[in-house]
Amino acid sequence: MNEATLVIIKPDGLKKSLTGNILTRLSETKLKIIGSKIVKVGEELAHKHYHHLKNQAFYPELIKYITGRLHGDNRVMVLVYWGTGAISKVRMIAGATNPEEADPVSIRGAYGRILTTGLYENVVHASSDVEEASREIRLWFEPEEIVYELYPTKEVKAEQKTKRVWE
Ligand code: UDP
Ligand code: MG
Repeated sequence: MNEATLVIIKPDGLKKSLTGNILTRLSETKLKIIGSKIVKVGEELAHKHYHHLKNQAFYPELIKYITGRLHGDNRVMVLVYWGTGAISKVRMIAGATNPEEADPVSIRGAYGRILTTGLYENVVHASSDVEEASREIRLWFEPEEIVYELYPTKEVKAEQKTKRVWE
């Protein structure tokens, strides 16, 4: 079944210049990239993305990690991959959450590490099921930033809204 999944190359991936390696590994899936961008991750987005983990002991460290405060760089690269079995194909190449337990040929096995704080610095995020993918893709992307119409949309009048444009 065709499905979409969200991939985030976390701040350690960018800091270590692993973007190319990671995209090459993911290209083995033959899935289509249907959205991609570099995002500056603020507190609000970080908390929304990981809200289900807020009671975990590692949560404050995880927020520091995804907002780039551990690496002095708050950029991440986010991508939407689409195709047959996209979620499991990407999770397979990403590897287990704990980099020490991850297959050494997986992305996390090859490039991840466990910090002395215990946090898994594991280079990539990948959605784990269809519901999570839907929630995450709609959190990180606007409809017009994705080339396929994945989810229902609606039109709203946004006259009161201001936006920054090139001067
Ligand atoms: N994490 C961690 N310690 C744990 C579990 C998770 O540091 O015991 C971090 C890790 O960076 C992981 C993220 O929290 O990628 C989200 O956790 P989740 O259980 O959703 O794992 P994932 O879906 O990323 O494999
Ligand atoms: Mg997860």
